[in-house]
Amino acid sequence: LRANFSIVKKENGLANGLIAVIHDVTEQEQVDMERREFVANVSHELRTPLTTMKSYLEALQDGAVDDPKLAAKFLDVTQKETERMIRLVKDLLQLSRLDAKEYKLNLQRTNYVLFCEEIIDRFEMTKNQNIQFNRRLPKGSFYVQIDRDKLTQVIDNILSNAMKYSPEGGLITFQVTRRGNKIRTAISDQGVGIPKENLAKVFERFYRVDKARSRKLGGTGLGLAIAKEMIEAQGGEIWAESEWNRGTTIHFILPLDRESDQR
Ligand code: ADP
Repeated sequence: LRANFSIVKKENGLANGLIAVIHDVTEQEQVDMERREFVANVSHELRTPLTTMKSYLEALQDGAVDDPKLAAKFLDVTQKETERMIRLVKDLLQLSRLDAKEYKLNLQRTNYVLFCEEIIDRFEMTKNQNIQFNRRLPKGSFYVQIDRDKLTQVIDNILSNAMKYSPEGGLITFQVTRRGNKIRTAISDQGVGIPKENLAKVFERFYRVDKARSRKLGGTGLGLAIAKEMIEAQGGEIWAESEWNRGTTIHFILPLDRESDQR
């Protein structure tokens, strides 16, 4: 805390009051520190693919271009790195829009179970891994007021993580339960898990338990940070539960629509 004092004087010059302004510098310093760290992270994340691309392009220039097999391989690498940068910039723009509150939630009354079914269907159709999905969805329908695009992205981020960190033949359980006026979604995998001490950190920007592994799997380190912003913007909560080497569950809660049971 920092305090600035000013003495209030009467016309005759005598003091008759004191104004104290107290600033919470620790909070401001914290914000500044986080901002600096964020910029350093962004720079590093962008520099990594750029240096990779640079060296592959140099190798092509130095002759690899004349070897069709090698050339194809090197171009493939630069292509993948470009894609990673596009993903990263897209995620960054999205986060900055969320930070600046430069978005409008497009809330629509939605049959939640149907909404989840459709997302799982899409993942089942397009998966190129041997993974099974277990649907534990309630019978009947109930409604939530959600921004469908944003919530689709949240679930996409969680499900793609579950797939990325799952073992061959793993099972992903998608569970929806209703409790009072809240609805809870839990997505569990049987993957590598997250060490207990890192559970809360995975929602921070650029935090990864294993940076090399996350990069190899195409991650930007921003997926869960975006998910958290989006869930909180819709009045919800999100958290992780995990057992190292056993699996991970990401839970989120959303408020139920007041007229949920009415058709
Ligand atoms: P990334 O793009 O690296 O996946 P995320 O923000 O989506 O970034 O996740 C942050 C980190 O949390 C990941 O790098 C990974 O270490 C960890 N993580 C997220 N989901 C899972 C999961 N289902 N199983 C194990 N680790 C996970």
